[in-house]
Amino acid sequence: MEDVFATLQRRNPGEDEFHQAAHEVLESVAPVIERHPEYARARLLERICEPERQILFRVPWVDDDGEVQVNRGFRVEFNSALGPYKGGLRFDGELQLGTLKFLGFEQIFKNALTGLGIGGGKGGADFSPKDRSDGEIMRFCQAFMTELHRHIGARTDVPAGDMGVGEREIGYLFGQYQRITNRSEPGVLTGKGLGWGGAQLRTEATGYGCAYFVEEMLQARDTSLDGRTVVVSGAGNVALHAIAKVTDLGGLVVACSDSHGVVHDPEGIDLDLVRELKGEDGDGLSAYPDRRRDARYEEDGSIWAIECDVALPCATQNELDEDDARRLVDQGVIAVAEGANMPCTPEAVDVFQEADVPFGPGKAANAGGVAVSALEMQQNAARDRWTFERTDERLVEIMREIHGLCRDTAEEYDRPGDYVSGANIAGFRRVADTMLALGV
Ligand code: GLU
Repeated sequence: MEDVFATLQRRNPGEDEFHQAAHEVLESVAPVIERHPEYARARLLERICEPERQILFRVPWVDDDGEVQVNRGFRVEFNSALGPYKGGLRFDGELQLGTLKFLGFEQIFKNALTGLGIGGGKGGADFSPKDRSDGEIMRFCQAFMTELHRHIGARTDVPAGDMGVGEREIGYLFGQYQRITNRSEPGVLTGKGLGWGGAQLRTEATGYGCAYFVEEMLQARDTSLDGRTVVVSGAGNVALHAIAKVTDLGGLVVACSDSHGVVHDPEGIDLDLVRELKGEDGDGLSAYPDRRRDARYEEDGSIWAIECDVALPCATQNELDEDDARRLVDQGVIAVAEGANMPCTPEAVDVFQEADVPFGPGKAANAGGVAVSALEMQQNAARDRWTFERTDERLVEIMREIHGLCRDTAEEYDRPGDYVSGANIAGFRRVADTMLALGV
């Protein structure tokens, strides 16, 4: 396992997030390799750590001033053993290939846990949508798809949204795909609008799924979200829907945040107000206390300083570190689940686990989003349309199955209650067994 990790570091220099994600999985699956020498003989770890294909491309486009801009586009097609590469597109001015390798790597195991026949991939561009006009976003998406279209397809690689890419961007991307290919192929992208091949609940799925997962973890300990105080970092799609579902399940969400600051509202976060303030003409989260008397806004504050029973980091990678974890544990947190991808540092995860606080890793806890993407693909393939209720029931069932699979696998490997090992081992075994069956 150390050899594999050394090779990965040598092949991917300076890509710390990828090293971090891979190290965790390699560590978790070491006992599996011991029990199954056939995996070692097939060099499965080394094969899994190397993406099947990495695509880098130029994205030239014209901004509103008539100036030509050049960005870089990426698609990491990591593993297709279980199905077409599946994973989101992220638009972020600082985006680097290493971040996408970490995200694509996580996606392999997350997608395997859903049991829905999807491989792992991730992509995006170093384009910042902030302060760009609608026309600029459209032209950028079109330029991006002008290259990407040759690499994707409903049976090949199916991108969706991620940070910076929502329904509007998926629409522009999908429009360009149709224009270029002259094909009606709704299953090529997920996260589409409801009127043009999208699935009910796709927008809500990641946040709802995260709430369902944490509820399962709590029920496994004979308690529930009902009456619990909850802190949810972020104010994007995942956070907002996690807040909504936690509230439905009886929890009181007292704080949320964005990249500028933190809102603490002991009476419970007013979701409509957050939506309004974060909307296109909104004044930003800092204006929240103007409208809610008991609330406070702290610029650059740490959301993890706020006392809570349950913490749901739903913003971005490595946003919760060891000190934050210690503070949460000292204040009596009883469960933590990752709505974002890898928001907790490895040291923070250790703190939670040593304190016996159930910890749901992102690849299990936030798998609801990609799971409903797979349901969208299923509906597209069948030319069918499911109701919101039917999709929600299926999501609950999927999150319950993932929770059970992680719990049982952890027990099988003598790590009861360790959802990190459970998720890594269960996801890995599904991919590894298939790769073995398919040959070298
Ligand atoms: N970007 C989401 C994730 O991190 C969803 C990906 C998808 O639906 O393909 O899982």
